[in-house]
Amino acid sequence: MELCDRSASELTVMLRKREVSSREITESVLKRIDEKEETINAYITTTGEIALRQADLADSRFREGKSVPLLNGIPIAIKDLLCTHGIRTTCGSKILNDFVPTYNATAVERILGDGAVLIGKTNMDEFAMGSSTENSAFGPTRNPVNTECVPGGSSGGSAAAVAAGETILAIGSDTGGSIRLPSAYCGVAGIKPTYGRVSRYGLVSYASSLDQVGALGRTAEDCAMLLNVICGHDRLDTTSADIEKPDFRESLNKGIKGLKIGLPREYFVEGMDEPVKAEIMHAISLLEKNGADIVDISLPHAKYAISTYYLIATAEASSNLARYDGVKYGFRSEDGVSDLLDMYEATRSEGFGKEVKRRIMLGTYVLSAGYYDAYYLKAQEARTLIKEDFERSFEQVDCMVTPVSPCLPFKLGEKMADPLQMYLVDIYTVSINLSGLPGMSINCGMVDGLPVGLQIIGKPFDEEMVLRVGHAYEQMTGSV
Ligand code: GLN
Repeated sequence: MELCDRSASELTVMLRKREVSSREITESVLKRIDEKEETINAYITTTGEIALRQADLADSRFREGKSVPLLNGIPIAIKDLLCTHGIRTTCGSKILNDFVPTYNATAVERILGDGAVLIGKTNMDEFAMGSSTENSAFGPTRNPVNTECVPGGSSGGSAAAVAAGETILAIGSDTGGSIRLPSAYCGVAGIKPTYGRVSRYGLVSYASSLDQVGALGRTAEDCAMLLNVICGHDRLDTTSADIEKPDFRESLNKGIKGLKIGLPREYFVEGMDEPVKAEIMHAISLLEKNGADIVDISLPHAKYAISTYYLIATAEASSNLARYDGVKYGFRSEDGVSDLLDMYEATRSEGFGKEVKRRIMLGTYVLSAGYYDAYYLKAQEARTLIKEDFERSFEQVDCMVTPVSPCLPFKLGEKMADPLQMYLVDIYTVSINLSGLPGMSINCGMVDGLPVGLQIIGKPFDEEMVLRVGHAYEQMTGSV
């Protein structure tokens, strides 16, 4: 097995035994990028030179023999919506094509502070709007498991990079499923932490009340390792939670005996592809066989989740994206522009892609004076009901399991002509963001050679439970 195909937890052990160097690991990853990137297109920018320099520094830290931080020497890829000092950050958009931040996002600062090796910035749907990574101004990413299929989105580049061995770990963001869906489709593990667990400072905003930074890796343990480093209070983000930060690796081996695992009845009705359902049911029976208590629960407002999400997310997006006007930074259209208003219009028309424009229009509409009460306010009320469903159910269970997606990874182009079809892919993931809960995807099998993801949902700030169940499942199936 090549070094780039190993998990971060294996590599941290090998590094400490001095069986490998960070340079060897990094070179293995860069070689894989050379071989695969032309087809996969997981990256918008690769930073090979920086990576090798950081790898040598990491190796010298090992040589000095002092205790080194956990991620020292481990290659990491970062979704291209987290600001990286001196490295362009495009958000998958033409409007930020040449934007080079003057500071690091907190999550980036923390992984660099831990000695990680930055491999590059990963491809994504423009401004994280999408479920397939086809809405990127830099071309679509392909799924390494089957290159005719999408990798899921919007953190498709991050998930594909992990699956292809083009990185060891990756950071993504999740507003309505963007870490979990691509993790499911590429057969890797990915966690969206509780809202407030990881700082959003330096994360380009899409829908601020839903956005959360999270971790992708080959296994639940790899996600736990990365989460350990990026989480924790940050005074630069007022929504960051000032609460205790556990070691997420410590509880991984506690097993699932006696745990109460809820199955939301509303998630298992029509709409799910039969083979996907069969795979999920098989996973559930395995959890039960290994000592978990499966409990039937109800989330009666689940049916409003997609409409609620797409009203709130577009409303917030229309406001957040107002800043891209060609004045302060980013792309500016100057061709035949006669005055300021003209420049704004030309910049935004040329700079944004189709899906982003659609959402700005929808969001502006639902916030407009005549429709605010009917749409935006109603959606906020529905959001409260959705959240209360979870609160009530969590009085009975320790965590919940559901599918991540109702369907298998689909073919490139298949859903591009019909935005509603694309939005429906998020049916099982968006409620978790609306409720601010932690959720993760782990691989639970293959159908027709394509991966199926199992979603594990936890109580607020109980990522430990989510990771523990994920890890236990991986051990049961011997999938890692
Ligand atoms: N697919 C969802 C959307 O397009 C979620 C995206 C995300 O989580 N960033 O909004």
